[in-house]
Amino acid sequence: MKVNYRRCLSCRKVAPKETFWRIVRVHPSRQVQLDQGMGRSAYICPQVSCLTRARQKNRLGRSLKAPVPEQVYQSLWERLAAVSGEESAEISGSNSQQGGSQPVN
Ligand SMILES: [Zn+2]
Repeated sequence: MKVNYRRCLSCRKVAPKETFWRIVRVHPSRQVQLDQGMGRSAYICPQVSCLTRARQKNRLGRSLKAPVPEQVYQSLWERLAAVSGEESAEISGSNSQQGGSQPVN
């Protein structure tokens, strides 16, 4: 039995493939999607920090050499929320703003 190791594109941690999320740029349509498909793929830890960094610096897009649809990030955030349970990951899409953004009454 051989373990396949992969590297997180965000924090560069190396770990067995199945511990990461896989993002694929499908060949030949160049569409970027999750998990399934043949083509160029990137791996990322299922963690807020890695996902945030990958998005802010466009690590994902650069790694795949293709634009990453917002929908892909959305799906990852939703997964993150699902696995982390009580830890509320913002799925608002615009989480580039730092705290204190309470609506004014
Ligand atoms: Zn990572």
